[in-house]
Amino acid sequence: MATFETEAVVLRAIRYSEADNVLTLYTRDRGRASAIVKGARRPRSRLGGRLQPGVVVRVTIAEGRRGLGAVRDASVIDPNAGLWAHATRLLAAGSVLEGALRTLPDGDPNEAAFHLLRNAVALLARSSAHPGPPRLDPLVLGAHVKLLVVAGLLPALGSCVSCGSIGTFPGFSASRGGVLCGDCSAGAEPLSRRGYEALAGLLGRPLSEARGACPPEAAEDVERVVGLVLREHLGVTLRSALSPEVSSRR
Ligand SMILES: [Zn+2]
Repeated sequence: MATFETEAVVLRAIRYSEADNVLTLYTRDRGRASAIVKGARRPRSRLGGRLQPGVVVRVTIAEGRRGLGAVRDASVIDPNAGLWAHATRLLAAGSVLEGALRTLPDGDPNEAAFHLLRNAVALLARSSAHPGPPRLDPLVLGAHVKLLVVAGLLPALGSCVSCGSIGTFPGFSASRGGVLCGDCSAGAEPLSRRGYEALAGLLGRPLSEARGACPPEAAEDVERVVGLVLREHLGVTLRSALSPEVSSRR
């Protein structure tokens, strides 16, 4: 059976049968991929305990039928052990990994997406505690916004998508593809100025500076825009985020 070796971020590990796990990985060479780890949950498993969500590994995978490979070997590149030191860090990383799991396709390598994920989990594993819900940590929101970029889903933020004017944008429409000026925003979702500025800041700055780009009062607006885009283009609502309907009613 053909095998391949690649670096990967573990996105998810699910129990499968009595002793096996099925991993969803974001691989550097093949994009999202699924692979079974035989005997992963046996006490003396050589591989199982190390292959947890958020861990960066080098894996050898034997290709299998219907897209499910089998992990033959794995070595840890970065355990990101700090994720397990605080429950909030693990929840924050879980939100980013869920975003990747649900927005990036199988079998479509995307080097930028791989580096973004690897960088995001490393920053979260080493970051100081963030007050408030982990899903609203600017590091998490910054990773979600940058995931939109690498997935090719980023809405237009520079000018009104309806008339092209430049200025302030009190509206947002995922179906129309971006922000709207005051004259064109009837019926659109409201977008606060601080929410707009936080979106622009998170996009324009490296992820390591996300906490300086998104004040707490802008966080829910950013989350809502990301949620609207994912729902419009992929039909996806992240379980780790508040649904767009709930947050727009607040
Ligand atoms: Zn307009």
